[in-house]
Amino acid sequence: MSSEIRDINLAESGEQKIEWVKRNCDLLRTLEEEFSVSKPFAGKKVALSVHLEAKTAYLCKVLAAGGAQMYITGSNPLSTQDDVAAALVKAGLEVHAWYDCTPEEYESHIRKVLEIGPNIIIDDGGDLVHMMHTEFVDLIPNVIGGCEETTTGIIRLITMEKENKLKFPMVMVNNADCKHLFDNRYGTGQSVWDGINRTTNLIVAGKNVVVAGYGWCGKGTALRAKGLGAKVIVTEIDPIKAIEAIMDGFDVMPMKEAAKVGDFFVTVTGCDKVIDEEDFAVMKDGAILCNAGHFDCEIDMAGLRKIAVETREQRKNIMGYKLPTGQWIFVLAEGRLVNLAAGDGHPAEIMDMSFAIQALSAKYLVENEGKLDHMLIDVPVEVDHDVAKRKLAFMGKEIDVLTKEQEEYLFGSTTA
Ligand code: NAD
Ligand code: SAH
Repeated sequence: MSSEIRDINLAESGEQKIEWVKRNCDLLRTLEEEFSVSKPFAGKKVALSVHLEAKTAYLCKVLAAGGAQMYITGSNPLSTQDDVAAALVKAGLEVHAWYDCTPEEYESHIRKVLEIGPNIIIDDGGDLVHMMHTEFVDLIPNVIGGCEETTTGIIRLITMEKENKLKFPMVMVNNADCKHLFDNRYGTGQSVWDGINRTTNLIVAGKNVVVAGYGWCGKGTALRAKGLGAKVIVTEIDPIKAIEAIMDGFDVMPMKEAAKVGDFFVTVTGCDKVIDEEDFAVMKDGAILCNAGHFDCEIDMAGLRKIAVETREQRKNIMGYKLPTGQWIFVLAEGRLVNLAAGDGHPAEIMDMSFAIQALSAKYLVENEGKLDHMLIDVPVEVDHDVAKRKLAFMGKEIDVLTKEQEEYLFGSTTA
């Protein structure tokens, strides 16, 4: 089957981006070398749906170097980069994706990478797994297993598993320490502000930044806002997370109060309608709203479109909405993930760790084909530690090692 992309002539710019990523992804480079020799995915078909930009492209090339036949699509209509997709096709990989595809085209692209009957699924947000279980039930016996990249995707998997609907093992990549501790916190923290800053070109220092959700992503977003000189307000539904935010030095209040004072709003909850019609109504003129959580429902865009008396595209990725009360509020990237739809997503060194976990988890699935007796699999601790040790070595850092006496002191007996 042939690829479906915007324009193969864009390949050169995509190749340059992938080359830059490769230079900054030490772990993936090592894995590419190892896989080129050991070919852990020889003869295996891999369907992948992840934000299709240069880091993802390099992961695809690493898996292909390990013998995988790759069938690739994006995981969000606005995060696919057409030049990167073109570079992958030029390198002989199959891609079905383009920037700004319609919801129907997005679904059709997902269908294309599933109808080839994948053995391994690499998913971000659960779209591949969901469609596999609804439209491609006949092909499920071919699936050895899959890996899920993000928090919301894992919540969807847990629901499927509880209802006994999950039919093949899924590795919960997001739950690895080397994933959420660094990717969700520091990756989101940096890339959200990168997306906001390059889109708005406004000062953050001295402004009120409201961060909705103080989970891993929220902590990073709040921390970096503080670093930029903002006064940070956190909204939460979990009393423990709320205390954590207070102890970290941030103000905490309900959204209906924060809505009145915020200059920037960032939602990172994974929840629905975190900012709703009542909140829009009390916002300051010029308030800027964006989302970094999974779906574009955290800011109630449908509600906003309904009450707006006028709309105006102010700049690329900035849409203005005039409220009946006269004030304008501005939403970035249509309320979709601001770091990916209005930026390049997490930095290379972060995705290096997340995608090393992905690649090694996929290898683990192949090595354990037919041996896994449950459907939700944690990333093996050895894999997590292996990635952390390799990363430290690349950072040029060493750490202490327990002596035999210290092991005995801590654990009671020496481990062989
Ligand atoms: P998390 O579970 O660690 O944190 C979510 C937090 O939101 C929790 O503390 C929860 O109590 C809080 N919350 C839920 N509903 C709320 C509400 N109505 N108001 C205020 N707070 C609320 O999850 P996480 O790892 O931080 O991920 C958050 C979301 O971001 C998920 O959808 C995840 O898939 C997505 N994500 C995005 C990126 C990115 O690159 N933009 C990266 C990783 C994860
Ligand atoms: N698929 C969902 C959202 C998931 S976004 C959607 O778009 O609607 C969250 C995931 O994006 C994170 O777990 C993170 O690992 C991944 N991510 C962040 N930056 C990335 C990048 N530069 N390339 C690929 N994936 C990235």
